[in-house]
Amino acid sequence: MMDLRSGMPYHWILNGLPHTYPLLDHDAQTTALVVGGGITGALCAQALADAGIEVLVVEAGSIATRSTSASTALLQYELDTPLHILAGQVGEATAVRSYQLCAEAIESIMLLAETLGECAATRRVSLQYASKRGHVEQLETEHTFRKKHGFETDLLAAREVRKRFGFRKPAGLVSHKAAEIDPYRFTHLLLQDVLKKGGRVMDRTKVVSSERSNSGYLLRTDKGHLIHAEHVVMATGYQSQRYVDEPGIQLHSTYAIASERIPIAEPWYRNALIWETATPYLYLRTTPDGRILIGGLDEGFRNPALRDKLLDRKARKLEKLFKKLFPEIPFKTEYSWCGTFGGTSDGLPYIDRDPRTGAWYVLGMGGNGITFSKVGAGMVRDHILGRPGPDAGMFRFGR
Ligand SMILES: Cc1cc2nc3c(=O)[nH]c(=O)nc-3n(C[C@H](O)[C@H](O)[C@H](O)COP(=O)(O)OP(=O)(O)OC[C@H]3O[C@@H](n4cnc5c(N)ncnc54)[C@H](O)[C@@H]3O)c2cc1C
Repeated sequence: MMDLRSGMPYHWILNGLPHTYPLLDHDAQTTALVVGGGITGALCAQALADAGIEVLVVEAGSIATRSTSASTALLQYELDTPLHILAGQVGEATAVRSYQLCAEAIESIMLLAETLGECAATRRVSLQYASKRGHVEQLETEHTFRKKHGFETDLLAAREVRKRFGFRKPAGLVSHKAAEIDPYRFTHLLLQDVLKKGGRVMDRTKVVSSERSNSGYLLRTDKGHLIHAEHVVMATGYQSQRYVDEPGIQLHSTYAIASERIPIAEPWYRNALIWETATPYLYLRTTPDGRILIGGLDEGFRNPALRDKLLDRKARKLEKLFKKLFPEIPFKTEYSWCGTFGGTSDGLPYIDRDPRTGAWYVLGMGGNGITFSKVGAGMVRDHILGRPGPDAGMFRFGR
């Protein structure tokens, strides 16, 4: 399997092993097979089970311990590509609908989280600050464009950024819809709900081959068992490049740290999610147990050995960048980790059927990986139910 993360991911350490799952030790049959037990597979499986569809989830390793465990899980509707720029790339209607779908996905994730149990899901506002004076115009244009399309944002001048957040930046854009979540715990809760609804979840079960059969698909696991499924949903994360030949996916390396607990309940304005206009961008959020998570300093390569070699240096640099923004907040790094991160040139995901195999792929990409996974879960469910919605086909392969 691809080495997707290293170090000490905070959410995994925080939760340990809340639930265990059996491995598949027999042949099996199901209506829908979800391959991958990260947050994407869990969201897909829960949406299917909730719609009354028989579902089996198989995970090659342990549940939620790949990219999902490394995620800092800021949930934002704005993509890495600003709306006015995305509109120029993919057309205004698709760009606006993509933003709307992410905003709706935040709402449905929050509703799900409220019904499933405690997973530190909290609504937030988010601030994107202008990293330099030359980026102010971009924020102004974005503000106007978002307002035109019904997204509530406030444009802050330097004075207001300073007043609310305490640091000096030339401008900022506040979005009113955002949230944060514990992605590791949420994944386990989703899968517990799948079990409650009669679905099955197996880990340590890797799919090694797949072929079409008369009534669906026949898949073989690494232990030699066969799974017969009418529908297959591949939620295999950044490793999916080995299954689909999609040149639009670029993998790189990213870094994150979590502070020791700090004795300040609200270190900045409403504990907003914070990010910036520079690329790669620095981003930060707080946690319910009083820590600060910071991520960024991405490198444009995927090589895990090289990625890991840089971890200590990147962790020190992230801490330094935080102290430059907030010199008064006592910050000491307690956990640091790094991971592979997948992006696309337009910031949009791939949610589509592989034309060769017919299997569905739900590949949330970029800074909105999780919200797009929720969007994909709904699209796949609707397709399997035989009622694809008007957005089906928006995030095609080969676009
Ligand atoms: C440091 C970091 C910070 C991030 N921050 C954010 C953020 O703030 N907000 C956000 O929205 N996103 C963020 N992301 C991205 C987000 O984490 C991902 O979009 C998300 O975790 C992807 O989940 P997944 O379930 O698709 O992938 P994964 O968690 O990698 O799960 C895929 C699973 O598929 C399994 N699998 C693969 N092949 C097979 C097979 N053949 N058989 C069986 N199982 C298989 C793997 O073992 C794996 O467990 C971040 C990512 C990183 C690394």
